[in-house]
Amino acid sequence: MADQECIFCRILTGELPSERVDEDERTVSFMDISPATAGHALVIPRAHARNLLEISAEDLSAVALAAQRLARRVCERLGADGVNLINSCGQHAWQTVFHFHVHVIPRYADDPLRLPWTPRPGDPQEIARVAQRLR
Ligand code: AMP
Ligand code: ZN
Repeated sequence: MADQECIFCRILTGELPSERVDEDERTVSFMDISPATAGHALVIPRAHARNLLEISAEDLSAVALAAQRLARRVCERLGADGVNLINSCGQHAWQTVFHFHVHVIPRYADDPLRLPWTPRPGDPQEIARVAQRLR
């Protein structure tokens, strides 16, 4: 099931590090290394699927529920004023990692985020601190 070339599959096996904040039978959620805003996380299925067109109905449902869990948490624990859920399907729709994922992006009343954002590596210590508040 795992794809050796896929960085998210390598995160799932633990071969690559990540700041996990949530998991269940079908999904894992971890912090994005280039957060668009504080608390930006990614929800992925454990089973490799390239994109929205290929993911199974069961995994898509599980990812949606996990994204809702995290959306609630970023509002309750980080004081987010809103949340964007974003999925990019295909290179021309901004997808850069070809293992299905939903971005959970907390929004704050005064944040400057505009789409599409330009990813910039975040401060690992700050990301770890935020992750701790989301677990
Ligand atoms: P997309 O452009 O929609 O395919 O999103 C891919 C996301 O994965 C980007 O926001 C990247 O910052 C993020 N990303 C890439 N590599 C890693 C990694 N090793 N750990 C966490 N997030 C990552
Ligand atoms: Zn994968």
